[in-house]
Amino acid sequence: MNRKYDAIVIGAGQAGPYLAARFSAAGKSVAIIERHLFGGTCVNTGCTPTKTLIASARVAYDVRRAHCFGIELPAAGIAVDMQAVQARKKRIVDASKSGLENWIRGLQNCAVYKGHARFESARSVSVDGQVLTSEQIFINVGGRPRIPAFPGIDSVAFFTSTSLLEFEELPAHLVIVGGSYVGLEFAQMYRRFGSDVTVIEKDSRLLSHEDPEVAAAIQSALEAEGIQIRLEAECIQLAQNAGSVTANVQCSIGSPQVTGSHVLIAAGRIPNTDGLGLEEAGVETDHAGFIRVDDELRTNVTGIWALGDCNGKGAFTHTAYNDYEIVAANLFEGNLRRRLSDRIPCYALFVDPPLGRVGLTERDALAQGHAIRIGSRPMTRVARAVEKGETRGLMKVVVDARSNLILGASILGVGADEAIHSIIDVMTARVPYTTLQNTVHIHPTVSELLPTVLGELGPTTGMSV
Ligand SMILES: Cc1cc2nc3c(=O)[nH]c(=O)nc-3n(C[C@H](O)[C@H](O)[C@H](O)COP(=O)(O)OP(=O)(O)OC[C@H]3O[C@@H](n4cnc5c(N)ncnc54)[C@H](O)[C@@H]3O)c2cc1C
Repeated sequence: MNRKYDAIVIGAGQAGPYLAARFSAAGKSVAIIERHLFGGTCVNTGCTPTKTLIASARVAYDVRRAHCFGIELPAAGIAVDMQAVQARKKRIVDASKSGLENWIRGLQNCAVYKGHARFESARSVSVDGQVLTSEQIFINVGGRPRIPAFPGIDSVAFFTSTSLLEFEELPAHLVIVGGSYVGLEFAQMYRRFGSDVTVIEKDSRLLSHEDPEVAAAIQSALEAEGIQIRLEAECIQLAQNAGSVTANVQCSIGSPQVTGSHVLIAAGRIPNTDGLGLEEAGVETDHAGFIRVDDELRTNVTGIWALGDCNGKGAFTHTAYNDYEIVAANLFEGNLRRRLSDRIPCYALFVDPPLGRVGLTERDALAQGHAIRIGSRPMTRVARAVEKGETRGLMKVVVDARSNLILGASILGVGADEAIHSIIDVMTARVPYTTLQNTVHIHPTVSELLPTVLGELGPTTGMSV
C-alpha cells in the first residue's frame, strides 16, 4: 500500500526527530522511520553511555587519590562492580531513549515506522513491506564503527565501541587499536575501572589533528595513569589464542607483540549509506560513502536532504542538531538563509582532563597562511586548577594578527569542556579578541584566565609577517 506524506525522515538520531516535530507543529503530515533504537548513536551507543561510564570511572579515580586531599579511606581499597556500573548506565540511557520515543510517538500528524528504509525512487521509500511517498525526504542515518581489514581480524573476537558498552565484565588487559577520540575515552575509563590498557596507534603521535603539545600533554596524562601507548604501529595483525588476543605490531620502539585479554577496534566510523538504495534515488556520495550536500544540506537531488554524520560535515551530536536547525530555519522561517559554512567547528574530547576545542589549531592557521599571535598558559598557573589538585594541561588561543579575530583555541584542563564556550561565543560574534580580554570573569574559575592569556599574546608569526 502506498502512503503519501508531506515529509519523510529516515533515521531517529540527533536531527530527524526534531525535524519531524517541526513538520508536525506546522500541521504537515510526516513519517519518521527508525530501524533500531530511537535516539541513534548518541543516546544509545555514543555520548550518553560513554559519559555515564566516564563519570563512574572518575569516581573510582577520585576515591583512589582521596589521600591527596587529606581524606583517609579504609585500607581495604576499592572494588569496582561493573554490573552496577553498567546498570547505572542502562538506567540513564533507557530513560533518554524512551523519553524520546514517547515524545515522537505523541507528535500530531507524525507516523512512526519501525524498520529499514530503502529508496525505491527519488520520491518513494520502502519500509516493512510498505511504500511511502513524499516530495521532501530527509536522510539522517548516522554511521557505525569502521572495521579495518587487518590480517587475522576475522579470527578474533573483537569489541567495537558499541559492543563493549554491553560487556559486564572487567577486561584484565584491554588492547585498543586506535589512539583517537573514541579509543582514548575508553582507554582512560577502563584503566580507572582497573584494567591494564594498551593503546596501539599507527601514527607517530596520538590525536594527529591536534597541536603537538596538546596531544603530548594528553599522552603524558594517560601514561601517568599507567596506560601503555604504542605509536608508529605499522602492519597491525591480530591473532586469537586460548583466552587472549595478540596484536603483532611493528613499532619503532618496544616489543613487536602486545597480548591482552580483549581487544577494542576504535578505528573511525563509516556512514550507514550502503543498503539505503541511494542509487535508485540518484543521490550522490563521495568515495567514502558520505552523502554529498551543499551549504544548506541539500543533496544533488531536488527534494532530498542529508543531515548529521552521514553527510561527513560533522561527527558530533551538536553538528547533527545544527544541521537540523539549518534545514528547519530555511524551510520554516523568514528570508535569512542559514548555512553550513557559518558553523565554527567545535568539540570536546572527554578524557580527564577534558580537551575543549574550537576553530583552527596553530598548525592549521599557519598552513592556511594566517599571520598569528599565540597566547598560552599551563594549568599549573590557574588558581582554580591548583585548588582542585588538577593542574594537568594548558590553554592556548590563536589570534589573527591582522584582524585581531580569534581563529581557534585548545583548552586542556579541568573544566575545559565548559570554559571553551567563552571563546566559541566570541568567535561567533566576530568581535576582536580584545572584547574577551576586557571582560570580567568570575574568580576563581578556569575561564577567568582567558582575558589574561589574551593580554599576553606572543609576537606575530606566519607567512604574512
Ligand atoms: C563512543 C562514541 C562516543 C561519542 N561521544 C560523543 C560526544 O561526547 N559528543 C558528541 O557530540 N558526539 C559524540 N559521539 C558522536 C555522536 O554520537 C554522533 O555524531 C551523533 O549521534 C550523530 O547523530 P546522527 O543523527 O547523524 O546519527 P545517529 O545518531 O547515528 O542516528 C542515525 C539513526 O538512523 C537509523 N538508521 C540508519 N539507517 C537506517 C535505515 N536505512 N532505515 C531506518 N533507520 C536507519 C539508525 O538506527 C540510527 O538510529 C560519539 C560517538 C561514539 C561512537
